[in-house]
Amino acid sequence: MTRERAGTARYPFSAVVGMDDLKLALLINAVSPSVGGVLVRGEKGTAKSTIVRALAGLLPGVAVVEGCRFSCDPAAPDPGCPDGPHFVAGDVPPRARGRTRSP
Ligand SMILES: [Zn+2]
Repeated sequence: MTRERAGTARYPFSAVVGMDDLKLALLINAVSPSVGGVLVRGEKGTAKSTIVRALAGLLPGVAVVEGCRFSCDPAAPDPGCPDGPHFVAGDVPPRARGRTRSP
């Protein structure tokens, strides 16, 4: 499942004027995450957050476990997730422990 917040319109990445070095850094990091990230800093009101949010509009959707607030990967959910346990497709959830009835 992919998700995107409903009702949130993003400002287009290409519509931000200037900040060419930041745009380049964000795009390089998106293409090659081995870069390790981008630290964005600058004066208040210079569209730092806007451009980072706009980048999300260029990226493909990500599959997440439905209902998980921490966006666990459905193929390899975090076993320590506070919203878990999540079960990988094909897994059978453990049965509740307790006494069983005899037939
Ligand atoms: Zn989770």
